[in-house]
Amino acid sequence: MKFTIPSSLHIGHKTIEVAFDPALVFEEDKQGIASHRRNKIMIQKTGDNWTLSHDDQVETFIHEVMHFVLTLLEYDELAGDEAFVDRVSILLTQALLTSEGTAK
Ligand SMILES: [Zn+2]
Repeated sequence: MKFTIPSSLHIGHKTIEVAFDPALVFEEDKQGIASHRRNKIMIQKTGDNWTLSHDDQVETFIHEVMHFVLTLLEYDELAGDEAFVDRVSILLTQALLTSEGTAK
């Protein structure tokens, strides 16, 4: 399935904006950031100086969504566990990107 990263989404009572940033890797040394204060997810943009595949961008998006979900549900320890967030988001991304057909 071709998944398009949205410009916004709702997680619980919050509206989260999503944007690509061409300098994230260079300024923050991260491919994605979940800013809880600004209700925003930023993802490294592919450009002249950095390449991030579409699938890796989706995985980064899901990773940052996971941070918002776990924080909203007050699983603060899990929200801060990057290895846990990474493992779950990798499998969720696989499920999303390999989805086919329409259930009947
Ligand atoms: Zn993270």
